Amino acid sequence: MNSLEIISSGDKFTHASVGSLHSFEGKLFVKDATNATSCEISFGSLPSGESVPFFHSHKENEENYIILSGKGRFQVNDDVFDVAEGSVIRVATNCDRNLKCTSELPMTYICIQAKEGSLGNYTMTDAEITEHENKL
Ligand code: ZN
Repeated sequence: MNSLEIISSGDKFTHASVGSLHSFEGKLFVKDATNATSCEISFGSLPSGESVPFFHSHKENEENYIILSGKGRFQVNDDVFDVAEGSVIRVATNCDRNLKCTSELPMTYICIQAKEGSLGNYTMTDAEITEHENKL
């Protein structure tokens, strides 16, 4: 089972890691470790042939699943579709969802949970280019 390790932190950041995703198993939530305030991120992994042991629905938060490895089937209410490494699936509030790994290799994924309709300005309307000394 993986654990979340705080690598470093400062006034304006927290760096945590779940380690290698190749050996990642189970489910890990990130928000409490990083003190995130806008979304909950979780890492998940399903062994071959397994699905999440329950369907669930969210009242306020949409979820965005990003499949990092493996292949599977995704179900939203009664809609079922194939997903694979590289898939991004947005699921709205007030519907049931589940996913199943259908590949021989485990399916690993990230789920980002955020309040539906909360995204206002983003990318170029929120960001500004700043002049800062590059120390990389
Ligand atoms: Zn959820």
